Amino acid sequence: MKSRILWFSLVTVAHIFTSQAQDYPSTPPEVSPMPMKPEMTEIWEPEVPVVTPAKMLGNAPSDAIILFDGSNLDQWVSKDDPTKPAPWKIVENDHMEVVPGTGYIQTKMKFGDCQLHLEFSAPDEVQSVGQGRGNSGVFFQDRYELQILDSYNSRTYRNGQAASIYKDHAPLVNAMRSPMEWNTYDVVYTAPRFKEDGRLDSPARITVFHNGVLVQNNVTINGQTYYIGLHNYPEAHGDDVISLQDHGNKTQFRNIWLRKL
Ligand code: MG
Repeated sequence: MKSRILWFSLVTVAHIFTSQAQDYPSTPPEVSPMPMKPEMTEIWEPEVPVVTPAKMLGNAPSDAIILFDGSNLDQWVSKDDPTKPAPWKIVENDHMEVVPGTGYIQTKMKFGDCQLHLEFSAPDEVQSVGQGRGNSGVFFQDRYELQILDSYNSRTYRNGQAASIYKDHAPLVNAMRSPMEWNTYDVVYTAPRFKEDGRLDSPARITVFHNGVLVQNNVTINGQTYYIGLHNYPEAHGDDVISLQDHGNKTQFRNIWLRKL
């Protein structure tokens, strides 16, 4: 009896696998009701929009929103009081620098899915260690932090170093440059989705290149990146601002642009 049951189970499993395989034929069917022509698998409409890429890789393509080009902080406001201008300083019409103690800054505009390019440099003067060294961060939708830290020859917890999703995902590698050099982040961010009743439908996802090196490969963001406690999604939300962290260090930023996806 047992062997009959086993045989029946094997046949059933084999049938399931066979029928699943039939959904994805590896070769065209031998008999087709209609001979295929090349144009039958060509899709023409709608036409793919044209974007003019920058002459130099890392600069903004034609459809990007310029969030910072070195000249002014017009796209940013104070996070503590969004009616006030961003309190950080512009240096040599080239980059901005955190003014420690003045608080986070945030974009005037709100965003969801996006491609973000951002350049940053740790403070020229190396001070402190670990999390106290060149700490800042970019918060997507004001909640999910991609860590900025001087992780050049400096150790801290792996899920809190540069290019980590703070206390969530460590980067695949440490691609940090020295404090005298500029770093780039190129990010593809997918916002979380929520059901009508406010529960999470799908979590946020993120891909990050640090100085051209893949460091986060389409990872799931497991919720708001709290300093203390397990991360979660406490509430549904829509598009929101991107914020930059004042963690008491003179971190510098330049060339920030974004494409809505
Ligand atoms: Mg930080």
